[in-house]
Parts: sequence; structure tokens; C-alpha cells
Amino acid sequence: MQTNFSVAQLADPHVAESEKILRKCVHCGFCTATCPTYVTLGNELDSPRGRIYLIKDMLENGRPADKQIVTHIDRCLSCLACMTTCPSGVNYMHLVDHARAHIQETYRRPLLDRLTRAMLAAVLPYPDRFRAALRLARLGRPFIGLFERLPALKPVAAMLRLAPSSIPSASPMATPGAHAGQGTKRGRVAILTGCAQSVLDPAINDTTISLLTRLGVEVVVPEGEGCCGALVHHMGREAAALASARRNVDAWTRAIDQGGLDAIVVTASGCGTTIKDYGFMLRLDPAYAEKAKRVSSLAKDITEYLAGLDLPEPVRKPGTIVAYHSACSMQHGQKITRQPKELLAKAGFVVREPREGHLCCGSAGTYNILQPEISAKLRDRKVKNIEATSASVVATGNIGCITQIASAAKLPVVHTIKLLDWAYGGPKPEGVSEAKLVAAE
Ligand code: SF4
Ligand code: SF4
Repeated sequence: MQTNFSVAQLADPHVAESEKILRKCVHCGFCTATCPTYVTLGNELDSPRGRIYLIKDMLENGRPADKQIVTHIDRCLSCLACMTTCPSGVNYMHLVDHARAHIQETYRRPLLDRLTRAMLAAVLPYPDRFRAALRLARLGRPFIGLFERLPALKPVAAMLRLAPSSIPSASPMATPGAHAGQGTKRGRVAILTGCAQSVLDPAINDTTISLLTRLGVEVVVPEGEGCCGALVHHMGREAAALASARRNVDAWTRAIDQGGLDAIVVTASGCGTTIKDYGFMLRLDPAYAEKAKRVSSLAKDITEYLAGLDLPEPVRKPGTIVAYHSACSMQHGQKITRQPKELLAKAGFVVREPREGHLCCGSAGTYNILQPEISAKLRDRKVKNIEATSASVVATGNIGCITQIASAAKLPVVHTIKLLDWAYGGPKPEGVSEAKLVAAE
């Protein structure tokens, strides 16, 4: 694609990066076929190619964002299916991240939208605040119907709908410290405790620590780590996202200095995609660029890390059918497609992939709160495809997808690690009956 940026504009490294990306696009439109919003809405401006044109126009003319571009960029899930499809290697992720930061700096949203976004940014990344907000959400449940009738309050209704009826207590395993590996030592890793996942389902990281230590891997919970920054990054709040990245880089650098790390294990693929991008996000900060690159190279999804270990034979023989839902951040963001399915199959499960596996479930960070209508359409389409597999249970590697799919599916939805842990001798995943895990003889 031909671009017309001035020399002065290209002096801004963010613009220069976006120009490089724009020039790679040959406007072939292949990406439109796999874009969930184009497939759902049928509008070229809600396709990757349409958004690329809008972003180009906004950046080239150096103008503030307007209502049109905000509407279509807000509808983008950042699912990155377009990057998997694109034959020209267009890095849509970095382009849309730049556009979102530009929108945040130059566009004044309506008051309620601003308040909702500010509240999400102030609550979700902080486990204590998020837990308190979920308790409060119970009081708001009777008003869901009322909020849904008022367009500006639909995000509030979506939030209340997604809030679980019971909130597990915080896990003592998530406090800073080290969990020693059993038997012969096979490695030393740090684990990201994260934010929303540690509140909604602390058992995911507890299970991960339990399985890894049984396999001989020491697991460190470093002092000072926190939210990866993805939630605010996707809202264009660059300063907050970079502050989270720097804090985590510091925490993991200390852990590296104090005994080395083979990996930084991440159990939410949305966070994994962002941490693997820290090297890029902090490239312009001389104090952090190198350290961030090192952290990104150590970040591994738990299935990626387990696939590199020589796992023993499973203790149990499940034989039951599992529908594997590959989160967008797993398959498109991190290009991890093989390992989770192979691990499940090796553990004795029959793995089925739902049709249209490339399409997002509509969760996408805060998308299911900020764009509840498109999100619900995508969720229902996903659940229909999952239920058509006749599986007994759904496995996936991202808390957002678990919450989203479970809100409409009739079958249990669990993190992949819980099924693996059970097959290798751990306890049964909560909420899944024995009959769902073991195939009838
Ligand atoms: S597939 Fe790639 S090159 Fe083709 S229009 Fe989409 S982003 Fe541009
Ligand atoms: S990130 Fe997803 S929703 Fe956004 S343009 Fe690409 S395919 Fe479409």
C-alpha cells in the first residue's frame, strides 16, 4: 500500500512503525473472510482491510480520531485472526494498538463510556478491587433488565451478567515465595499470578503449581508481579500498560538474578500474548528494552512449557471426548495450535475441534462488556459449534473464554491444565462429574 507520510511525521517512531506495517498491506482482502466482525456485520469498515484504511487516513492526515473511526476500531476484537490469514505479514496487532492509543489521546468519548472504561481500568487489574466489585455486583443483579433497556447502560448489564454467583477465596499458593519440585529437579520457572483469573478461578494456577512440582519443576511466585497490562493496553491506555510491563519486567528480572528461570509460565493466553510483546512495547525505553526482550523470550504458555517436558504415562484413562477451544490469543496471538491438543490426546482424551475454530468466542478482554451485542452473537455461534461436537467437556487456555463460553454452554468448560492434572493423578476439576471425564466401557 502506498503511503504519504511527511518526514516530520516519520520522526515519530510510532508513526514510522505503523507506516512500515501499512506498506506491507496489498489490499487483497483475504483477511476479511476470517474476521469475526466482518463475518457478523458484513460491513467493509468492520473488516481488517477497512480498519487499515481508516487508520491510514487518520495517521497520514495527522488528525484526531472521530466518531466513525472510533466506532469501527472499538468493534475490533483484537482477535488477530487477520494476522493468521494475511499472506503479506501485516502486523495488524501493532497497528491497531497504535490506533487505540491515538484514539485515547485525541478523542473525547461520551460521559458514560468514559466512566465505564475508567472503572474497568481502575478495577479489573487489581484482584482486591475486582473481588470487592464482584461482591457488589450481586446487589445489582435485580436491575439487569432495566440496565439492558438503556443503551448507555448495556455495558453495566453485561458486567452484571458475567459476574459469577459465588467467588472463590484468594489462594494462599499465589503469595510470593517458592514451591519446591519433587524428586529430581527438572527446571525452575516463575508463574504469572495475574489479575482477573486469580479472582475468578484461582484453582487454575494452584493446579499448575501442583502438576509442575509433581513433575520436579520448582515454581516461583515472584514478589511484585501483577496484571500483565493487556486489559488497559487494549483500551489504548499506554502509560498504564507500560507501567504494568515495567513492574513485571523488574519482578522477573529479580527472579532471574536470584537463581535463573527456564521460563515464565503463563496460564491465560491473553496475558501470554501481551508478555511476549513486552520486548516490542518497551523497545523505546533504554532502561528496559533489553530486559523486556529477555522476559518476552522466557514467556511460555503452560502447554508450551509442558510439551517440552518428557511427561510420564498418565495415571488415569479418561477416553472421554473433549472439545478443544483454541483461544484467539493462543492460536493467532501466540501461534500455539498443536501442543494443547497433543497433551490432551497423550493424557488419554479424545480431542475434537469445533467447526469455525478460527472465529473468536466474543470474550476478548473487556469486549464482552463494551460490545455486548456483537459479543453475544459470537458466543452463541461458538457454543453451537462446540455443542455439535458431542463432547462431554470443553477445554481451553484462557479465563476470558472460559467465562464467556460457560455463560451459555450446557457442558462444563475448564482450563486445559485441570484436565491434564487430573489425568496425571491430581484431583477432579471442580464442577465436572466423574461421568464427564471417564468414557463408559
Ligand atoms: S490479508 Fe493482509 S495484505 Fe491482504 S488486505 Fe488483509 S491485511 Fe492487507
Ligand atoms: S483483530 Fe479480529 S476483529 Fe479485529 S480486524 Fe482482525 S480479525 Fe477482525
